[in-house]
Amino acid sequence: MPNMSLNKVKMPEQDPEVRNKNFLEVALGYTEAMAMEEAKRCLQCQNKPCMKGCPVNVQIPEFIALVAEGKFEESYHKLRETNSLPAICGRVCPQESQCEKLCVRGKKGEPVGIGRLERFTADWFMEKVDTKPQRPSPNGIRVAVIGAGPAGLSCAGDLAKMGYTVTIFEAFHTPGGVLVYGIPEFRLPKALVEKEIRSVKQLGVEIRTNMVIGKVLSLDELMQEGYKAIFIGTGAGLPNFMGIPGENLNGVYSANEFLTRINLMKAYKFPQCDTPVKIGRRVAVVGGGNVAMDAARCAKRLGAELVYIIYRRGESEMPARLEEIHHAKEEGIIFKLLTNPTRIMGTDDGWVKGMECVTMDLGEPDRTGRRRPMVKQGSEHMVDVEAVIVAIGQSPNPLITSTAKDLETKNWGGIVASEESGATSKRGVYAGGDVVTGAATVILAMGAGKKAAKAIDDYICNKG
Ligand code: FAD
Ligand code: SF4
Ligand code: SF4
Repeated sequence: MPNMSLNKVKMPEQDPEVRNKNFLEVALGYTEAMAMEEAKRCLQCQNKPCMKGCPVNVQIPEFIALVAEGKFEESYHKLRETNSLPAICGRVCPQESQCEKLCVRGKKGEPVGIGRLERFTADWFMEKVDTKPQRPSPNGIRVAVIGAGPAGLSCAGDLAKMGYTVTIFEAFHTPGGVLVYGIPEFRLPKALVEKEIRSVKQLGVEIRTNMVIGKVLSLDELMQEGYKAIFIGTGAGLPNFMGIPGENLNGVYSANEFLTRINLMKAYKFPQCDTPVKIGRRVAVVGGGNVAMDAARCAKRLGAELVYIIYRRGESEMPARLEEIHHAKEEGIIFKLLTNPTRIMGTDDGWVKGMECVTMDLGEPDRTGRRRPMVKQGSEHMVDVEAVIVAIGQSPNPLITSTAKDLETKNWGGIVASEESGATSKRGVYAGGDVVTGAATVILAMGAGKKAAKAIDDYICNKG
């Protein structure tokens, strides 16, 4: 019998007043009984509309049917046919604008909790079974992957499964990309990411850290070292700034630096760790995406009493996941919408002491379809803060593109690559993920890595 409840089975969470003081995971996951009950809300639609919203084609009704029957191990294998990082996607995919958006149960009530079920299945498998992936016999052909984020890891994993000898070159001392240095522990536990990385290594992939390609080695030098093809998955990690007076004051952070200090360098454990982060009692985070929500929620957990999200449009225009906005509000983050900073004021010794803002009105839709914000005359006002975190977007780092002149780039610095294959203007070089699309999502980056792996295999086989 299907479960015709209009609402998803509730997932247990830490209490907002408790969790806004710790870095432990907010959502606690389903039990077996909860997962089976939620899975029974799926109507097993013949035409599978939900699947059209999934960039990696997860067999959604099939894996959910197996959960409903209590066949969790089989369900996991079904998931893994198309998604190599289900525990991560179940947690961070923007399901409301992808698979769940198209679920028929969402027409009247809440859609099936596809992400929650995906997370449950992956966690169950890791806890109860967790086998070592089979290491395929090597074909002796070397491929280089630059960047160990979701795009690079999924490309490397797929190539290794085909028998290639893959080396990932990663600039940081730790692999994982944004999964490790950007998305905080309370949304995505790092132990999970480490497990996923371990399974890529178990396929035989070598990860060489502290290797900044474009500085220590160029693309041509990699080719000369014997790599037959290269995949670039270097993301978009260069922060954008507002370009307003006072942005160079002490206490102004890019969200990237702020989150890296907290996630990678564990600044919340200072002085037990050696990386501090000073924010004071009142903090403004400028921006309306996932990055802004993560920075604001981290600032609250570091002890700030008042944390503001400053965003120049309205809530319905915010690009952040609905769940992140909801969790941020529950945790006491104050939303100052239709507000735009104009300058940051400093103390005599160079620290932030406040930020001047203006109020905005929304005009006609712009090129992006969102209503254009316009300054309301005479609306200047002060926001009393001691730190400002800028989360208004990132661009790709130009290190590789500036040293490989035959690599065609877009005017904003992204690499031009085919959507189908990831092929770039340079023979044998492929690219995918944020470095091609600009800041996007984990699942899109993974999808691009997988497509490129297949295209690299075709390229090498046809060439050979
Ligand atoms: P990245 O994850 O950026 O990985 C690129 C890797 O390449 C990095 O490890 C970097 O160190 C390395 N690298 C860069 N340059 C070089 C070089 N020259 N040589 C060697 N290595 C190099 N997406 C979601 O789907 N859901 C979310 O909830 C979500 N939240 C986010 C929160 C934050 C704070 C941020 C910043 C992003 C978030 N995103 C989210 C977006 C998502 O994380 C990215 O779209 C995704 O990680 C892109 O993957 P990627 O592999 O292309 O790049
Ligand atoms: Fe939905 Fe993401 Fe899972 Fe696809 S990978 S089914 S979009 S949660
Ligand atoms: Fe199940 Fe919803 Fe997909 Fe239908 S659209 S198969 S109800 S998840």
